[in-house]
Amino acid sequence: MKTVLITGGAGFIGSHLCEFLLNKNYKVIAMDNLATGSIKNIEHLRGSQNFEYLHHDVSKHIVINEELDFVLHLASPASPVDYQKIPIQTLKAGSLGTHNTLGLALAKKAKYLLASTSEVYGDPLVNPQPESYWGNVNPIGLRGCYDEAKRFAEALTMAYHRIHKLDTKITRIFNTYGQRMRKNDGRVVPNFIMQALKNEPITVYGDGKQTRSFCYVDDLIEGIRKLMISGINEPVNMGNSEEHTILEFAQAIKKLTKSKSKITFNPLPADDPHVRCPDIAKARQLLGWQPKVGLNEGLARTIEWFKSN
Ligand code: NAD
Ligand code: UDP
Repeated sequence: MKTVLITGGAGFIGSHLCEFLLNKNYKVIAMDNLATGSIKNIEHLRGSQNFEYLHHDVSKHIVINEELDFVLHLASPASPVDYQKIPIQTLKAGSLGTHNTLGLALAKKAKYLLASTSEVYGDPLVNPQPESYWGNVNPIGLRGCYDEAKRFAEALTMAYHRIHKLDTKITRIFNTYGQRMRKNDGRVVPNFIMQALKNEPITVYGDGKQTRSFCYVDDLIEGIRKLMISGINEPVNMGNSEEHTILEFAQAIKKLTKSKSKITFNPLPADDPHVRCPDIAKARQLLGWQPKVGLNEGLARTIEWFKSN
């Protein structure tokens, strides 16, 4: 049985990854400090003898007294509202947290995977974004704490790979949604679904012409599994390449929830990327991976979950 440490394991994506790998017969250690996650997300796993929860801040030195085969580093606030509230912790999770988890993987001779982000491309001047694009990031803007932490994390990961020959992987995750997102995390999916379910105004920021591409969480988890056991060391984009304007997205949610909400237009936050869409040719070719769940189906499952929770 292989043992995997998942930092950020009590978060949205981390908890799905814990559950998925437990079902694939891994021993799973979830590490989290609950900065933006919740024990509720992993409560159903705590009865399993192959699951362990460690309450720990990844920016502090990490001690694990057992062998590890994989270290998957997901710990970091991910919602713009969250990371702008705790920018210093976000920078520390991406920098010190990445250093600590890389050092741990090296000591344990474990394979390493970094959860990076499409935000490394900033407000991109190339659309869709291939991995070869270097990005357009404002280092001192409100998103800089997240974008630059992840860019530093990628640079450190590649340095450990080149200098220490650590078997590292980097996934650049694009907007992913699904069950267990926090209803008040401020991201567009929970915001619009909650507003629509309560028949309150759906708050489109700006004119709603900015684009995003939404990947259902099960698809992402399968991509991460394929990448973690692959021989690939260069970054790989993971997301759904179907691009929508935010206004179209608001209309889709209104329709799916049969909501009476009005759509309102609010100011666009600073440095909000105008376009975002992954070029996933690399994931297709090297991993044989592409998303399978369409937007309507993924949203329907997510809406059901929000209704019942
Ligand atoms: P999330 O906020 O639900 O999960 C993050 C988890 O990390 C939380 O449980 C939080 O408590 C934990 N955490 C934060 N700082 C920590 C620290 N210092 N020590 C220990 N734990 C800490 O967010 P998510 O959407 O599940 O994102 C998970 C990862 O995926 C993040 O690294 C994020 O950057 C990346 N990502 C997510 C998306 C997305 O669309 N969801 C897109 C791009 C990248
Ligand atoms: N957005 C919006 N209304 C909201 C929340 C978000 O119009 O209530 C927009 C936001 O301005 C951005 C997009 O939706 O253009 C996605 O925002 P999110 O916070 O989910 O993450 P981002 O992709 O910007 O990191």
